[in-house]
Amino acid sequence: MPRRFPLPNAFLLVMLLVSPTLPSAEISQEEIARYSKLAEELLRDGVNRKTVAGAGHVPAYAIFLAHQFQRAGFPDEDIHLLPHGETASLVVRYRGDGSSKLQSILLSSHMDVVGADPRDWERHPFELQEDDNFYYGRGVLDNKFDVSLLTTLFVWLKAEGFVPTRDLIIAFTGDEESYQETVQHLTSEFRDLIDAEYALVVDGGGGALDDNGEAFQYQIGFAEKTYATFNMTARNRGGHSSMPRPDNAIFDLAAAIQRLEMHTFPVETNEITLTYFARTAPFLNNEVGEAMARFAADPTDEAAIKTLRSKPEYVGTLSTTCIPTMLEAGHAENALPRSATATVNCRIFPGHSVEAIKQELQVIAGNPDLEWSVVGTPVSSDASPFNPELMEAVSASLDRIYPGVPVIPKMISGTTDGAYFRAAGIPSYSLTGIFLNPADSYAHGLNERVRKASIPESLIFWRSMINLLAGPRE
Ligand SMILES: [Zn+2]
Repeated sequence: MPRRFPLPNAFLLVMLLVSPTLPSAEISQEEIARYSKLAEELLRDGVNRKTVAGAGHVPAYAIFLAHQFQRAGFPDEDIHLLPHGETASLVVRYRGDGSSKLQSILLSSHMDVVGADPRDWERHPFELQEDDNFYYGRGVLDNKFDVSLLTTLFVWLKAEGFVPTRDLIIAFTGDEESYQETVQHLTSEFRDLIDAEYALVVDGGGGALDDNGEAFQYQIGFAEKTYATFNMTARNRGGHSSMPRPDNAIFDLAAAIQRLEMHTFPVETNEITLTYFARTAPFLNNEVGEAMARFAADPTDEAAIKTLRSKPEYVGTLSTTCIPTMLEAGHAENALPRSATATVNCRIFPGHSVEAIKQELQVIAGNPDLEWSVVGTPVSSDASPFNPELMEAVSASLDRIYPGVPVIPKMISGTTDGAYFRAAGIPSYSLTGIFLNPADSYAHGLNERVRKASIPESLIFWRSMINLLAGPRE
């Protein structure tokens, strides 16, 4: 049987949060309510801004947020608005007294969102809408919730006169969902502003609730697969379609695609994926859970691998995957094609270079005449090391909202800004205070929503995290 954890009422719980390490003796219900209201106002303002790629609305959002920090008393020299093309980043430093002798902690989220067509949505995506239990709108989950939350957190701590024992830095990036240039701009041009012992990418990870609203696991992203896209092109001298020849660019490309379809990349494991499967297994009361347990104990178990490979949500944790996603071929219906191109998107298991996977694909495709190119500039990053200080703080902070929920390290199949922090030598961990039922996760999709209770819960969680990682020790 899966273990069950009670769902506490965040507001009632607040009264129990008395700890000698808190900056003030206790967090009052009134304070949580007041700052929840601020977070909600910021979320409302944020969702109403259509910060999609190319629309040019990110800088105004960044200025609005910068004003929140200014009003809270952060000095101008610690607030950095960094324009980049049509978008921008915002970096804010919360100066500590240095008494811990520890390096800074970076807290990062992104201000941009994926596009949304209002005609497809039940509610308008760029207006914050709500019912009794949820907020709705593009970005309420990914990632304006956590932008609003982190801003509120800094405002709250400042209002209390909290002085951290090490610097805390917020970095809000401006194109995480598209080109991810702003994060690279930060790591390359403004390293001094964001340099930190580690980064907490407050985007992804978080808690899972079952259908009864009970928390059953909490995930932290420790690693990401490398996102890489290749174009595979067959070329031909072409000709008239009334005089066909056996050599044909479309036939050549189709044959290569078929060989890719027959190929599966070998199963791989690391400490993160094995721990993930071992700790997730007990919560799935089915053949998938059994397969996870067997695989964690013996990664050569063929039957377990077969079961896990058949599940799209788990196949990416087993190996590199590459799949064709787009086709382009020919130029006229009555002409032999002069070229045919397939776009192949790969999610590469940590430890392999993009070049090595490209060479492997070339061998699989089996046609030396095909041309290959890499789309964009993929970034590969190693897994972040296990961090006991962080893990202890997460467990203790979760105890305040969902006591006893198991913490599970995860390798993410997508790419967050964390991959760029890791690649720049800043270990990076994805986590958030949001708990949701996986069935409610509509990030990037239609009718994106977040539980209203996530605001007070996240405030309690992050307040505790800051206190444990950067608060005074008695
Ligand atoms: Zn995101």
